[in-house]
Amino acid sequence: MRIHLKEIPENGLTLEFEENVKHYPIFTEMKEFKFLDPLTVELQLRRADQSIEMKGRLKTRGIMTCSRCLKPFVQPLKSDFRLIYANRPQSIYHTRETELSAEDVELILFDGEIIDTYQAIYEETLAALPSKPLCHPDCKGLCPRCGKDLNRGACQCKNEEVDPRLAVLKQFKVVRNR
Ligand SMILES: [Zn+2]
Ligand SMILES: [Zn+2]
Repeated sequence: MRIHLKEIPENGLTLEFEENVKHYPIFTEMKEFKFLDPLTVELQLRRADQSIEMKGRLKTRGIMTCSRCLKPFVQPLKSDFRLIYANRPQSIYHTRETELSAEDVELILFDGEIIDTYQAIYEETLAALPSKPLCHPDCKGLCPRCGKDLNRGACQCKNEEVDPRLAVLKQFKVVRNR
């Protein structure tokens, strides 16, 4: 989505649109997240001095692989973000002046009169992907010994696990049997 600065009225501009994922090669090539839905994008743009403040919300759904049980599952994705688009010469001055406060807001430099939301949308989507996706917060994962999916019930290994106090007795027994 390209927005001309002239299109943003004094009291701001609210946009809602769907992005076709196919327009983003990075998304179609991605293996860790297979899009099921288009990206729903809500943007609020407001002019402030020479810069534009953009508040956004992204929503979609995709297939991810659970990091514990390795099963594919549907992961809803939602991301709220805030960005400042600043004119290049002005922003260099601006970041120097407010080096500390600029840290909590991402600053995007742009030349001319047009904001292109493409980069912001793909960066914010990638940032929203969970680094350790879980099919369920309580996913029990796979048994490290036999590989059984513990969400489907306990495996045999679990029965073999012995209380450390009993283990001492067991050892003692072995010694005595000799
Ligand atoms: Zn899982
Ligand atoms: Zn097991």
